[in-house]
This record gives sequence, structure tokens and C-alpha cells, in this order.
Amino acid sequence: IIEVKGLKKSFGSHVVLQNIDFTVQPSQVVVVIGPSGSGKSTFLRCLNGLETAEGGTIRACGHAVVEQGKMMPEAKLDALRTEVGMVFQSFNLFPHLSVLDNITLAPTALRGVPRKQAEEQGRQLLKKVGLEHKADVYPGTLSGGQKQRVAIARALAMEPKVMLFDEPTSALDPELVGEVLQVMQNLAAEGMTMLIVTHEMGFAREVADVVVVMDQGSIVEAGPPAQIFTAPKEARTRSFLQTML
Ligand code: ATP
Ligand code: MG
Repeated sequence: IIEVKGLKKSFGSHVVLQNIDFTVQPSQVVVVIGPSGSGKSTFLRCLNGLETAEGGTIRACGHAVVEQGKMMPEAKLDALRTEVGMVFQSFNLFPHLSVLDNITLAPTALRGVPRKQAEEQGRQLLKKVGLEHKADVYPGTLSGGQKQRVAIARALAMEPKVMLFDEPTSALDPELVGEVLQVMQNLAAEGMTMLIVTHEMGFAREVADVVVVMDQGSIVEAGPPAQIFTAPKEARTRSFLQTML
């Protein structure tokens, strides 16, 4: 469902991604780990066209995001982004809209879904993330964990085929992390294809099909969690995991 070949990305003369080859199968849960500055966020952002790659090929959900270093035209990126949803560390909810309106905005404005239908779907999504009773409040009254669950519901409202998560729990107080991970685990169990950058190693161990280790803009190794966490092949993986203990 995602295919990456020879991906290269620089900021000025600073190469931040190189020789990235990677494939994600439908319903796979991929957890991306690695030190700060290793390129995890940039990699995720390239997948839905938020960053302009200058080399390689990315295909996502049938779209050629980058074809031999040539970026998909801006006009086509909107279609891509309805199919590849993204959730960030900072929730980015619209503070002046109710929780339900946050969720219905994109489907009604971008996909022409009738208001009533979007609201029904929105309420169902709120139920899925355990917040059906918060439909009419404003984001400012929610806890961080609740905000992030609304952000997930909002992304799901576009009915994406793939969900990208960039450190979705890093901004949360420790006691709120679990409720967000639980929602993500439920999504995984429903068969959602997901790429998740996280430092939650317990979650990675339990939920990931594949763990990808990045360092200095490259994929150091990738494999099932049992292999990466208990028998890593690469010294760089071992030293990164040491820092996570
Ligand atoms: P973290 O764990 O801290 O989030 P990361 O693995 O997500 O790190 P990236 O944010 O992808 O790393 O950054 C990779 C490299 O690219 C870093 O050296 C960073 O300084 C650089 N970088 C990222 N975004 C930009 C930008 N917009 N302009 C210039 N350099 C950037
Ligand atoms: Mg990052």
C-alpha cells in the first residue's frame, strides 16, 4: 500500500534521508524508532507529500507521490492526503470549533459529505475513541489525551487507507498516554494500516508487525519486534535501545 525506493531528501546541503527502501503491506502496523534528528518525522512527512523529496520514488495508495525524484503536482496532493491521514504530536484542533465540528469540517468542506451524514459519522467516530459525550464542547476544555483522541477521530473522518502518527503521545502527561495508545491498538486490531513514530517501546513490542530503526537518515534495520528488541543485528540498534531503557 506504500512503496518507497531510493528516497532522498535534503534541507539545503544537509542530507536528512538517503537510500530509503521500504514497503508497507495493507493492515500492517509499522513502528519507526531512532534517535532524535535521525529523520523519522521527515520520512513520515514525505509519505503524504508534506515534504518535497528530491530523489527516489514513493507510491502511496495508488498515487505516485514522488516518481524518480519528481514530486506530484500540488493540485493532486489533496487527493493523496484524504487517503493518507496524519496525526501529530501537537493536536492542532481548531479552538473555535466544537469537537464535533472539528471532525465534520474536512469531510463536509473537502469531500462534499452532507452535514447530517458527517455529523452521524462524527458521533460514531467519537464513540470509537470513547468521547461521544464530548461532541458539543470546545477543545480548550479537554485534557491532552482527549484532544489527541479527537485528533485521531478527525483524521479517521476522511476515511483514510493509511494513518501516519508522529509521536502522538509525546506531548501528553504520562497518565494520559495509555488511553491514546489504546485507541491506536484498537485501530490496528480493526486492520488499519499504520506507520507510527513513537518512543513507547512496550507499545511497539505488542502492536507492531514491523519495527524500523532509523539513524542518520537511513534505515539501519527493520524486522519483527521480537527480533529488533531481543536479537538486533546492528550495533546502532543496540546502542539506541540502550538509551531507551
Ligand atoms: P525527533 O526524534 O527529534 O523528532 P526526527 O527523527 O523526527 O527527530 P527530523 O525532524 O526528521 O528528525 O529531522 C531530521 C534532520 O532534518 C534533523 O537534522 C533536522 O534538524 C533536519 N530538519 C528537519 N526539518 C527541517 C527543516 N524544515 N529545515 C531544515 N532542517 C530540517
Ligand atoms: Mg520527529
